[in-house]
Amino acid sequence: MVLDVENAARWIHRLNGKIQEQKQYLTDLDQAIGDGDHGINLARGFQEAANAISANSYQDLGALCKDVAMTLIGKVGGASGPLYGTAFMKLSMAWKGQKEIDREALAKGFKDALEGLKMRGKAQPGDKTMIDVWEPAVAYMAGEGPLNGEELASVAKEKMEGTKELEAKKGRAAYLGKRSIGHIDPGAASSYLLFSTLAEVIGEGESA
Ligand code: ADP
Ligand code: MG
Repeated sequence: MVLDVENAARWIHRLNGKIQEQKQYLTDLDQAIGDGDHGINLARGFQEAANAISANSYQDLGALCKDVAMTLIGKVGGASGPLYGTAFMKLSMAWKGQKEIDREALAKGFKDALEGLKMRGKAQPGDKTMIDVWEPAVAYMAGEGPLNGEELASVAKEKMEGTKELEAKKGRAAYLGKRSIGHIDPGAASSYLLFSTLAEVIGEGESA
């Protein structure tokens, strides 16, 4: 078992905590290459998602992820709301009826979520979006070796930092063309928080 209802709830609460902490940083990143609302959008959405899951008790991961998805879709504007909403909706479908999942099901859920993101946003790795973090993080989860939380977090961190060198091809930052180079992508930064907090709660569970 790598994830159950209890540590999935802990994941969302920790992710929310990190987003609140880094709200200004995420907004500053978006100020540089977008419209400066990423931190504000996500802080509102994840606070509501954390409130929603606190108000309920869940028997399965699917129901928990579905409530997160619906809240994000309803409360987060911009490009990132529907994207993160889609990702959590795909997780909820993959983990429907499951109280706890093993590494294989974890990887399958995230593979579906990544496919949903790509379908919705039409971005590919290298386009300087959240996909630049999702793709390698999901590949690591689906890989052969043991699942190590610290490695997952470090893959996500490295790729998030790597978006600095890229020229944006999708989203608002693409309007800047080459001037988008030299800045970390805000969605890549928030996606790093998503994977690093997930990595923490997985590390706290039983061995993967
Ligand atoms: P908006 O750009 O509408 O203001 P946000 O600021 O909340 O929305 O989110 C911006 C982030 O969304 C970007 O940094 C990028 O990571 C992500 N993003 C934007 N467009 C796409 C896309 N087509 N595919 C994947 N991610 C995208
Ligand atoms: Mg924005």
